[in-house]
Amino acid sequence: MSAPNEPSFRESVDIMFSRAVALMDLPPGLEEKIRVCNATYTVRFGVRLRGQIHTFTGYRSVHSEHMEPVKGGIRYALGVNQDEVEALAALMTFKCALVDAPFGGSKGGLCIDPREYDEQELEMITRRFAYELAKRHLIHPSQNVPAPDMGTGEREMAWIADQYARMNTTDINARACVTGKPIHAGGIQGRTEATGRGVQYALQAFFRYEEDKAAAGLSGTLEGKRVIVQGLGNVGYHAAKFLSEEDGALITGIVERDGALFDPDGLDVERVKGWLDKHGGIAGYPDATHHSEGGLVLEEECDILIPAALEGVINLSNADRIKAPLIIEAANGPVTAGADEVLQKKGTVIIPDMYANAGGVTVSYFEWVKNLSHIRFGRMQRRQEEARHQLVVDELERLSKDKGLGWTLSPDFKDKYLRGAGELELVRSGLDDTMRASYEAMREVWHGRDDVSDLRTATYLVAIEKVARSYRAKGL
Ligand code: GLU
Repeated sequence: MSAPNEPSFRESVDIMFSRAVALMDLPPGLEEKIRVCNATYTVRFGVRLRGQIHTFTGYRSVHSEHMEPVKGGIRYALGVNQDEVEALAALMTFKCALVDAPFGGSKGGLCIDPREYDEQELEMITRRFAYELAKRHLIHPSQNVPAPDMGTGEREMAWIADQYARMNTTDINARACVTGKPIHAGGIQGRTEATGRGVQYALQAFFRYEEDKAAAGLSGTLEGKRVIVQGLGNVGYHAAKFLSEEDGALITGIVERDGALFDPDGLDVERVKGWLDKHGGIAGYPDATHHSEGGLVLEEECDILIPAALEGVINLSNADRIKAPLIIEAANGPVTAGADEVLQKKGTVIIPDMYANAGGVTVSYFEWVKNLSHIRFGRMQRRQEEARHQLVVDELERLSKDKGLGWTLSPDFKDKYLRGAGELELVRSGLDDTMRASYEAMREVWHGRDDVSDLRTATYLVAIEKVARSYRAKGL
């Protein structure tokens, strides 16, 4: 989705990439090697449904194999096409490099409207698609590891994992062939919420720096900030929920397929989500103004705009009317290259997609490591931590006894302290660390180089440099 006469999504990514490499000193040829998409596999397969054969078209694109496996989600949507999966695969390469997830970039998609099929039909379609990809090592623990994306979730990942396991009965690492699985099928705590959680951590990282807030004309904390979210899917919902419940932000607008809700005093995210799940849309939701022309709410006054749906929604047709001083791209590619220029001229600060939504792949990495190590995530660290904590408790009790102080530790405190952190806490702190460290690397380039004026270019510079380093190390 972009305005007529605008470059396609893939061309938009290319333009942004070129803007950054123009400021780098890459050896001849390496720039082109990093830019191009290595391969895209297109498959058409038939599934017999309701007494008739239906033909589906799917893609798996591999952008860069400078590290393997390559990684990236599988999207189910009617608009999926080669240009889109290639753009998304390129973003995966840079995203993984940025957050130091040791993967190359890939992406897949199936042209399908999942709402048109029941669960059993979707399972048959998904298993058949997985079979086609796995047959060509486009699903494989050491070659290519998919994950959820728009229109897919843990249910589809469980089918894919099972399909791969059936085809590879002797592969002891079969579970690591896909991430985003349900907990009982080898998933990890906190993966479902991870992308939305990452958006929250990214905003918290940004709000830690006065200079960065000032660049967007903002100050203070996230508390009371007016936020408009587009898309209450997995990413938008979790981001809005955490920002409102934990940081005190006001979700003043929610834009969905069938219009938008607006309430200057803040919407109740849980209630809106409940309504949406029950009715399939937000129309009719009480206690807020409903606008049938949802796009207009994107243009409302607010402090932070979170596009968390499709690519190209902020384009040349509406960019100059966007009032938000800060945009965080929870979706991939929501701002076209043309719109990006218009917004930069206006002084809008954009926290770019490859960083903003990197929480998903970061926690996918934890899940993959957990699967390969065949041990509960953090179990070793936890044992160490418990032993260390036991030393502290023993020492405190000894001191108290020796000095006749009569101190005692409450059983509740002892229990909590000795138990140490569980998987969810480890995942959250690992994600928080990753988002902070990546943001610091980006802002250093943003503020430290005279020839860089925006966060997106800074982010591309950090990511491309890491990819280039890895190609150089390989001797390419
Ligand atoms: N689909 C998500 C993304 O675009 C997650 C990818 C993954 O976990 O591999 O980043």
